Amino acid sequence: MYKKNGKGRMVVITGPMFSGKTSRLLEFIEREAIAGKNVILFKPEIDKRYSKNYVVTHKGYKVKAVISPIDFKAGDFIAKKSREADVVGIDEVQFWDENIHFPEFLDTLADSGKIVYASTLNRDHRGEAFKNSKSLLGIADKVYTLAAVCTKCGGEATFTQRIADNKPVFGDTILIGGKNLYEPRCRECFVKKRD
Ligand SMILES: [Zn+2]
Repeated sequence: MYKKNGKGRMVVITGPMFSGKTSRLLEFIEREAIAGKNVILFKPEIDKRYSKNYVVTHKGYKVKAVISPIDFKAGDFIAKKSREADVVGIDEVQFWDENIHFPEFLDTLADSGKIVYASTLNRDHRGEAFKNSKSLLGIADKVYTLAAVCTKCGGEATFTQRIADNKPVFGDTILIGGKNLYEPRCRECFVKKRD
């Protein structure tokens, strides 16, 4: 019979782009590393911004960063690579395939006694919640919701607007980019797609 280990838990960090989710994730992981825990960090293979094998934190801790597949192979891959780890960090959960029950897989990692820190983008550029994020928030033991600064009014931004030539644009859900393509907006300044 499947036996749980009571020490595991799942902590989720969510918010729009530019709200510091990855930095917060690294801070949590660094804190565990300082306590002598064996830590590992997974990044989705879609995100080529991080191809290095190690991430060095502000305090100088080296954290092993592994690029993970985002399809049906993800579960086995992460389970195998994190076998020795006490703490598992997962960055940008929204990028994993929505059909593989990835949040539920992370839940089983927490059940097995691992401390899981997961970051995920709350809404897509149309303002709709990512399916993975909804599931993840529903099963988290603790959630940190971060805000960015609205580029229009300076208010608390919880939305991510896709822009081209300084105007909101809409398209496929996933389009990798940074400040050239996206800006954080508050609820009032965020422009929804008109049908
Ligand atoms: Zn605003």
